[in-house]
Amino acid sequence: MAQADLNVLRLKLTDCTRCALHKHRTNIVFGEGNPDADLMFVGEGPGANEDMTGRPFVGNAGKLLTDWIEKLGMKREQVYIANVVKCRPLDNRDPYPLEIETCIPFLHVQIARIKPKILVALGRHAANHLAGLRLPMKELRTRDLKYENEKSGMSIPIEAVYHPSYVLRKGRGETEKETLMDLRKALAVVGLSDTVG
Ligand code: URA
Repeated sequence: MAQADLNVLRLKLTDCTRCALHKHRTNIVFGEGNPDADLMFVGEGPGANEDMTGRPFVGNAGKLLTDWIEKLGMKREQVYIANVVKCRPLDNRDPYPLEIETCIPFLHVQIARIKPKILVALGRHAANHLAGLRLPMKELRTRDLKYENEKSGMSIPIEAVYHPSYVLRKGRGETEKETLMDLRKALAVVGLSDTVG
């Protein structure tokens, strides 16, 4: 059922011109994965590889994310991966508030249909947009964050982790170790630890 609803939502975005990001995009990056996923990852917005392919997290950051998912004992197809905005901001700039405001309702519907047990926010921007906050990553990582949506009545825990691009910039190492630890702990809290290898 969730798949049918997501297909309808995807159709609503066909040839979307709701914000200026459409001007430079090649493909809309709707999101992909298991429509009934317990675990949903949310990034900020597509990069160049994602724009080219129409798929989220397929570049170097995506390869690292896939590696993390596998280290957690899962397959990429088991989870759902989406972004706050569905079109690439040129030169990988942060999306503007109006672009986010225009696009984020589609993410809210995705979450409402998928009903994950936990949302993993990849990076500060995704975490702040999901939690309705404006905090630095250091703060976000220490707080119990929640995604609350009045329309769907949902309340879902958010785990804020470092963005895989940031982890790559840091040379993986300790930053990646911390991220995997955060992820393992968060999954255990929502009862997904049996899938953690
Ligand atoms: N970074 C993101 O935040 N999202 C993607 O889909 C790719 C890279």
